[in-house]
Amino acid sequence: HPATVLRPIRVLPAPVVARIAAGEVIERPASVVKELVENALDAGARQIRIDVQGGGLALIRVSDDGCGIPADQMPLACARHATSKLPDDDLEQVRTLGFRGEALPSIATVAELTLVSATDNSGVGHRLVLRGGSVAVSEPAPRSRGTTVTVRHLFQNVPARLASCGRPQTEIREISQTVRRLALAAPHVRMSLYIDGRLTLHTDGGGDLGEALVAVYGAALSGRLIPLGPIEVASARIAGVVAGPEVTRPGRGQITFIVNGRAVQPRGLLAQVETAYRPVLPRGRHPVLAVTIDVPPGLVDINIHPAKLEVRLRAEREIGAAIGEMIRDALGRQPLPLRAEPAV
Ligand code: ADP
Ligand code: MG
Repeated sequence: HPATVLRPIRVLPAPVVARIAAGEVIERPASVVKELVENALDAGARQIRIDVQGGGLALIRVSDDGCGIPADQMPLACARHATSKLPDDDLEQVRTLGFRGEALPSIATVAELTLVSATDNSGVGHRLVLRGGSVAVSEPAPRSRGTTVTVRHLFQNVPARLASCGRPQTEIREISQTVRRLALAAPHVRMSLYIDGRLTLHTDGGGDLGEALVAVYGAALSGRLIPLGPIEVASARIAGVVAGPEVTRPGRGQITFIVNGRAVQPRGLLAQVETAYRPVLPRGRHPVLAVTIDVPPGLVDINIHPAKLEVRLRAEREIGAAIGEMIRDALGRQPLPLRAEPAV
């Protein structure tokens, strides 16, 4: 993973900041989870543990075994537009999930933020606590290589934001959906989600997209998955797994496209998938599938949405047509038995 290399964190030059799609990145607890897990993935983590209490409004904690943050750079990590991920100011060549330096400072203004991090396994790391956006504690702390970020009392100082959040159950549903999509986007990373102390979701990090799909959407998919590709179209490498037509869902939430490691739902691709499935699915039902699309960074624009929930693929039409074709072809074949059936 390209970002695993430790790079210095620095404040982006103003012209670069001006080109970045600005907007509110932290709207609800699930946005915090998404930003923190993406940071862990960018840090090259192989294991990520997510803890959530009180629907995320009481506590969100994300622990990783990634590259860590050097103690002297931890305050900078929490500063506006400070990032280690755009070394050449080149927005066209972004290979990481983050690049704007917005998440940690945004979180620090709406919650208490604690970072504990170490860049090696000497056992000694550093803890930084920010309250009301400023440093309240900075001290050495025991820690193996990696980072733990804890977010407490989210939105307690922003009554309007707090009021627009749903009941804990609603926020937990959003968080779970977010983690499922992140887990599919990174099947090589072992991910676990604990809700109020209870393990509710985990992947084994074995790297197999089909196994990740079974782990996140249920053992009922096991033995019903048909592989797609890999093929190459318009400089894109496309591969995936689809469930057979006997597996249907009432919504489109279990259709995932992973573009350069980012789980997204480009409208054009969605339309092609739905068209391919139409002859075999009952009206109003939708398929379960995950398709990975890897393209050179210059062929995808990720800088169009503040929370990076959308991307623009240069060759969307061609890629969509190819995926539609692959699905039609796959639906004419038999599902392959999957090896393991991880408990869900
Ligand atoms: P961005 O991800 O866009 O760079 P963030 O505000 O999310 O902005 O993070 C700021 C910086 O803090 C990152 O560029 C990275 O250097 C560092 N950082 C944050 N989280 C982690 C982590 N879990 N492991 C290692 N470094 C991290
Ligand atoms: Mg980030």
